[in-house]
Formats: sequence, structure tokens, C-alpha cells
Amino acid sequence: MNWNRMVQSMAGAAALAMAASFPMAAQVSPAGGPGIPGNPSPMGSTSAMTKEAEGWLTDLIKINTTNPPGNEQIAAMYVAGVLAKEGIKAELLDLTPGRSAVVARLQRSAMAESSRALLLVAHLDTVPVDKSRWSVDPFGGVIKDGYIYGRGAIDDKGMLAANLAVFIELKRSMAHLNRDVIFLATADEETGGDASMRMLIAGHWDKFAAGFAINEGGNVFVNKGKVHYTGVQVSEKVAANIAVIARGTSGHASQPTKDNPVIHLAAAVEKIGNYSAPVHFTSIVRRYFEGLAPLEDDEIGKWIRSMETSDRGEHAQRVISDASPLWNSMLRDTIAPTVLTAGFANNVIPPEARANLNVRLLPGDTIDVVLNDLNKLVNDPQVRLEVQPNAGLAAPPSSLESDLYGLITKVVTQEFGGAPALPFQSTWLTDSAQLRLHSVQAYGLVPFPLAQEDLKRMHGDDERIPLAAFDKGVDVLVKIVKGFAVAH
Ligand SMILES: [Zn+2]
Repeated sequence: MNWNRMVQSMAGAAALAMAASFPMAAQVSPAGGPGIPGNPSPMGSTSAMTKEAEGWLTDLIKINTTNPPGNEQIAAMYVAGVLAKEGIKAELLDLTPGRSAVVARLQRSAMAESSRALLLVAHLDTVPVDKSRWSVDPFGGVIKDGYIYGRGAIDDKGMLAANLAVFIELKRSMAHLNRDVIFLATADEETGGDASMRMLIAGHWDKFAAGFAINEGGNVFVNKGKVHYTGVQVSEKVAANIAVIARGTSGHASQPTKDNPVIHLAAAVEKIGNYSAPVHFTSIVRRYFEGLAPLEDDEIGKWIRSMETSDRGEHAQRVISDASPLWNSMLRDTIAPTVLTAGFANNVIPPEARANLNVRLLPGDTIDVVLNDLNKLVNDPQVRLEVQPNAGLAAPPSSLESDLYGLITKVVTQEFGGAPALPFQSTWLTDSAQLRLHSVQAYGLVPFPLAQEDLKRMHGDDERIPLAAFDKGVDVLVKIVKGFAVAH
């Protein structure tokens, strides 16, 4: 593919002034770059719409929405400006100063039927960067060697640009909708604070109430240049934190004591680090592994199929857990020590030492059971474990029987060379849990086919998305949404 375009750019305050009439942005893209895994045919991947979407993505990357502080309002105004150019009225939903979401709707008829509506969700904010570790400006919207580089290129500005493309495609093609389609760009997803989906639902639910949603959370996994499978996220684990607090007698470091809390904390953390919670199969994880077994090599496939057998089950669970941190975390509650705090002077034994444990619960498991098990394990009167406030809430899984789930699996299987779709329980959190708690059948699908090499850069250094994968993902998302929301 090869294309040339006028170069324009925007950043910062300019976005505010120009949001309402922002011209289509553009970049010069090189030819070549990585191919489209699992899709040898060129399929509309060079369509004008995907090229425009690449421009929106690079523009969005240039609007720094690192959270904290987020400052999503500027990006929200940019998005509203892109929609306004298409004659679509978007509304900014203000959450806290400088932080807004943006919502727009394509209506089927004057009478809203929210239970049928389809919501396209993406978040405006990104995690921070360590600029010194990047090879390009993380907020430059750089296109290089067939990739768009930048913070948010995958998570989640790529999806945001794809949602824009889908929404605008519906509008331009004057599609005859069989349900409302709602576009929503949210704020504060990465820290889940005062400007997050929780607050948005509490204050503005009527603006985007829907029965179905497509959000981030699932991925098209590429392995050795081919799509291995598509994980459609229908459920997610629940986060909580536990503080480990060791107390002892403070004193002069020249005369060490056995009750030094640093030593007791270290011993507790070591025990916890070596601990594995018992395996529980949720219905989703069972379905996932059933679908996965035939895709893996014979050896792994054999162990996957043995995980629930009475004779070899335990050994098989260990083999599969050791083979992949993702699989390990799908099978059980996990506990990761993340922050240690102790001491204030090199020559003083401190009175207290603390650790934070980040716990990820399977939906349905409770933190009290984990706490009880850890207390038994640590078994030290000097060490106390305390569940921290603001634990997440478990949501029921989205249905595997809905028309939308059926359609997603059909389209991705066709589009990605026959690689199947598997129901996916993500170990990470998304806004979909909040939606599922409001009876939305929410499906997580970042539609871009991505290799581990690129996926692991999310939240890391040199985040990037292959242009070919982005284009393909936009096409796939258009097909899914048209299939679901356009009357045939
Ligand atoms: Zn995200």
C-alpha cells in the first residue's frame, strides 16, 4: 500500500480553538511494513475511511491525555469536532474540571429503545510514559516502518479512532439502522477515579443507556505471523488490594532484634510469593480452554484436556499454569506483592513495615476467602493483613447466546483466516464490568490483529500499532457493527 497526504498537525490549546472545524488530519505513510496476519487478500484495507482513521489516531496521540491528570476534555472536543464535520451532534459530558466524556447517537427512530441500542465505547485517557525509554516522541503521532507509534496507539486511542470510523461510515452511507448506535469516549479509565465510567453512569446513564456494547478487553492474538484466535472478552477478574502490616519494636540498628518488622514483612512476602491459590474453573474459562486445546501443539493440548481429570488434573493444571502467566491467572485468584514501604533512616530499626498485595479475584470468588488463606499461610502474630477499600465489584458474564456474540464470532472467524473466536475472561479490568452491572451485554474486542511483541508494549515503552493491523481492525469493526445494527 502506498499513499501520500498533506501533513497537518495539532496539539494542546490549538485543539480547543479548532475542535469545531478541525480539518482532516493526515500523515505521510511509508509503503511496506508488517502484513495483515491471517488475511492474505487485500480486503478494503486501503479504503479511504481507514486512511482517515489513521489520521484521527495520530491526532489523538498528539493530544496528551496521560492520566493522571488526564485532561481528556481537549481530546473530547477534538472528537466532537470530527463528528461535527460529518453533521453529527456530539455532547460533552463534564465530569470534573478539565475532564469530559463525549457522546453521540445515530438514531433509528424518534422513539429510543435503549435495550436494543448498541454502544461503541473507548477511553480517551492513557497511562503515563517514561520518555527516556522511548525511541520516538510518545506524543508525536510518529509513523515509522509501517507502524503508528505513540502512547495510546493500541490502548485505547486505536479503538477510539476505529469507533469514530465505524460511526462516521454509518452516517455517510446513510445506513438504515435497526437500532440506535451510540458513540461514547470515556475519561479516567486507567485509574477508575472521579471522572471514570462509574461516575459517568451515575450522572449521565440516560445519555448512553444501551443493551449491547463493544469495548476494549479482548484481542486478536497473532502467533508466528498468523491469527491464532480471537479472544472475545465476556467477563473479567476483579481487583482488590490487601495491606500486609508488620509491627515491632523500633530501636538502634547497632543492636538488631528478632522482632524487626522488616524481617517479618520479608518472610511474609516470601511465603505469599510462593503461594498459588486453588484452581477454579468458571464457565467462561472452561469454554475458553475447550476451544483452545485443538489450537495448541499436541503436548499442550493434551495437558489442557487433562486439567479436569481426577488422575492427572492437578499435574496438568500446574503444567498449564507454568506455561503462561495469562493462563495461570485465568485459572485462579492471584496475589502480586507490588509496593514495599519500610524504614526512614539507615541506622534505625523502624516500628512498622508494609507491603501492598494486588489481588485479582475470579468473578464469584471473595476476598475474605483469600484473606483467610493468607492469614493461615503467614501465621505470624507480628503481621496483620488488612483488606483495603475500593475493591472492584464482580459482574455477571455477558451472554454467549446473544445475536451480537454470534455475529462477532462469525465475522472474526471469516476475516481472520478461519482462526476461531473464544470466549475470554480477561485478567485485566475494563469499563465493561460497570456496563455489565447495568445489564449491558458488553463484549471486549480490540479488533486489530496483534502479536505478543506489540501487545506487550501496551502500558510499556514504544507502544505502536501496525498500520495494516489498524486498517484491518477498522474494516472488521465496520462489518460487525453493520451486521448488527443495519437493517438488511
Ligand atoms: Zn484501555
